[in-house]
Formats: sequence, structure tokens, C-alpha cells
Amino acid sequence: MTKSIAIIGAGLGGLLLARVLHVHGIQATIYEAESSATARSQGGMLDIHEATGQAALRTAGLTSEFEKLICWGADCTRVLDQHGTVLVEKAANDAGGRPEVQRGALRQMLLDSLPHNAVLWGHRLANAVPLGAGRHALNFTNGQKVEVDLLIGADGAWSKVRPLLTAAQPVYSGMSYVETFVRECDEKHPLLAKAVGQGMLIAPDEGKAIMAHREPDAVLHAYTALTKSAGWFAALDFASAEAKRLVAKDFEDWAPELVGLVTDSEQPPIHRPIYELPRNTRWAATPGVTLVGDAAHLMAPSGDGANLALFDGARLGEAIAQNPASLESGLQAYEIEMFGRNEAARTEAEEMLKVLFGPGAAQAMQEFFSKASVA
Ligand SMILES: Cc1cc2nc3c(=O)[nH]c(=O)nc-3n(C[C@H](O)[C@H](O)[C@H](O)COP(=O)(O)OP(=O)(O)OC[C@H]3O[C@@H](n4cnc5c(N)ncnc54)[C@H](O)[C@@H]3O)c2cc1C
Repeated sequence: MTKSIAIIGAGLGGLLLARVLHVHGIQATIYEAESSATARSQGGMLDIHEATGQAALRTAGLTSEFEKLICWGADCTRVLDQHGTVLVEKAANDAGGRPEVQRGALRQMLLDSLPHNAVLWGHRLANAVPLGAGRHALNFTNGQKVEVDLLIGADGAWSKVRPLLTAAQPVYSGMSYVETFVRECDEKHPLLAKAVGQGMLIAPDEGKAIMAHREPDAVLHAYTALTKSAGWFAALDFASAEAKRLVAKDFEDWAPELVGLVTDSEQPPIHRPIYELPRNTRWAATPGVTLVGDAAHLMAPSGDGANLALFDGARLGEAIAQNPASLESGLQAYEIEMFGRNEAARTEAEEMLKVLFGPGAAQAMQEFFSKASVA
């Protein structure tokens, strides 16, 4: 295949796609807005699901590399109520299950699996213009211009490729996460370390939660979920000394070992507003362009998004490799399957989020885990 292929975005979806194409001897160029692989911290732990994330890594021929990254024992989970009472204590699954890896390590592994010049850093797509016959002109904010035969948007929530296919726009979900970090937890914050345990902590309540993960090097990485308007967050100065207190205000009567995950953070909290694409965002097959991952199906975090992005990348890579004579039918088959898969995942995720943030959330989570262990 001699077609020129551009993948916009070196997130997990775009990199996995490029890797599968590479395995099939197909060259693609990834254009990434960030200036380097280390320009931004890559976030926390991801549990990689058997049917999606792990399947994608198998397709990419990277299972043994992936296994080297697993943080064994980190997939245990505790659910606490607001008083710090342990309601669920789910042990780690040493046989695999949904192993945890650090997102940054996974991304680096994917980068290392590609030719050294596969990613062009510092290339932020400004817009893409159809030229006919499936070709597109790409305009980058650094002034570069390229024309390509196949364009794939793997550029996340605010995709600049998506407008070529649909007018759908992400909508604020009504909830934001606030990210905080407590370091040297065993020495400096033993009560918090004990509450979190060796894996994941979930302390849910209606419309809010404190969730945390223990990461390598004794770091407790927490997400506090709050149902508040975009305006409330816009008025909050996250760099101010007061920010942690204001975020923790809704948890005033909670146990100190939970609230401390916010108030004892050594760095200012980071705002992560949760946006979603409307349900059933689809588009008519369009020659020479498609999407993977959040660009195609952004939804509220439920532990699936990165897994689905990896899986999209694998399925699209295979569809391109297996249809050299008829790229358009390959893209269409990929999209039909992807739309169905992601709507089903979204339905499941919404059920899960209703349990996590619905009335009587702590008890509902307890029931959820007890049913899951029986099933
Ligand atoms: C708070 C939070 C917690 C989450 N936790 C989990 C979890 O535990 N498990 C899980 O599976 N999922 C989780 N997710 C979801 C997951 O992060 C996403 O679904 C996943 O990262 C999507 O991957 P992607 O490759 O599609 O996009 P992204 O990871 O967003 O990557 C897109 C890439 O494109 C680049 N880019 C963007 N615009 C441009 C442009 N114009 N030009 C060039 N490059 C561009 C970006 O810099 C980025 O590198 C969470 C999400 C949030 C917000």
C-alpha cells in the first residue's frame, strides 16, 4: 500500500493504530500537538480489560512487553463509606483479570514499538480540508501543510478531524473531577495510605465521590468527583491556597483519612471537567477519513475509555491492512462495528455510573460488588 496515512494524536488510540499498521508493513505518520513524549504528565493507573485493551495489545504483538509493565497487586479495590468504614475489600487477582499499568509507561511502550520518526511532535492540527476522492489537506498551527490519502482523527475530546464527519460537540456532563496527589504516603500520611490500601479506593455518595489509587513510589493519586456547574469551577482559582479547601467543602463531615486525600495534596488541584459526546453520535461513511477513541465516542470516565481507544486502534489497523484494494469498505466495516460496540459500552458505563453516583451510593456499590463476586 503506498497511500499516505496521517494519524492525528499520539494518545493510546493513535499509537496502537500506528503499531498495528507497522506490524502489517504499512507506514503512517502521527502528528501530535505536544512538543515531546514527556511534555505533559500522562495521568494515573489504567486497568486493562481482557476483551478490549488486552485484545488490542495482542493484535499489536505487544503482550509480553505489556506484561512487564503490570503493577501486580494494584488491582485490589476497597469501597468505604463516608465514615471510613470498609464496606468492600476485593483482593487482587494474581492470575491477571484486569491488571493495572501506569498510563505513561503504556504510552512509552507503544512509542518504543514504532519507528523513531513515526511521531511528528509539535504538530497541532488547526483544520483539515477535503480535496475530493478521499484526500485531505491538513493545516497545522506551526504553519506546516500536508496532503494525505487517509486521515484518522485520534485527537481526543476536542478533535479537529471530527467536524469533517459530524456536527456533534462534547457537552459538559454536570460533573468535574479534581485531581490531587499525596506523596511519600507511608512516611508522611500513614492514615491516608492505610485507607487507600494497595490498590484502589472508592468512597462514593450521591453526586460525589472521593476515589484514589496507590501508585508506585508511595504516591496516592486521588480524583474527587463533584456535581457542580461549569461556572462554579470557572470561578475557582485552582492555583490558590484556598482551592483544596473549597473542593473539600462538600465532604466536611467525612472521615479525615478521606478528606486528607484532597487537603493534604502537595500540589495545587487539577480540574478535569467531564464532557461527553451525545449518545448515538454516528456519521455517514466518508471517503478517506475516520475517527478512533475519544474523538469518536467521548463519554464520562467509567474505566473503559482508554481500553476502547486501544481496541478501536487495533480494529481499524486490521481493517486497513485487510482491505488494501478497497479501503472504503474496510473503513465502513470498522465504523459499523465501532458504533455498535461503543454504544453498548456506554449503556454499561451509564449503569455503573448510576450505581456510583446515585442515591445510597456506598450501599449500592457494596451490593454491586457482592453480586459481581457471585456471578
Ligand atoms: C479523569 C479521567 C479518568 C479516566 N480514567 C480512565 C480509566 O481509569 N480507564 C480508562 O480506560 N479510561 C479512563 N479515562 C478515559 C481515557 O483517558 C480516554 O478515553 C482515553 O485517553 C482516550 O484515548 P485517545 O487516544 O482516544 O485520546 P487521548 O488520550 O485524549 O489522546 C489524544 C491525543 O491527541 C493529541 N491532540 C489533541 N488535539 C490535537 C490536535 N489538534 N493536533 C494534534 N494532536 C492533538 C493530544 O495531545 C493527545 O496526545 C479517564 C478519563 C478522565 C477524564
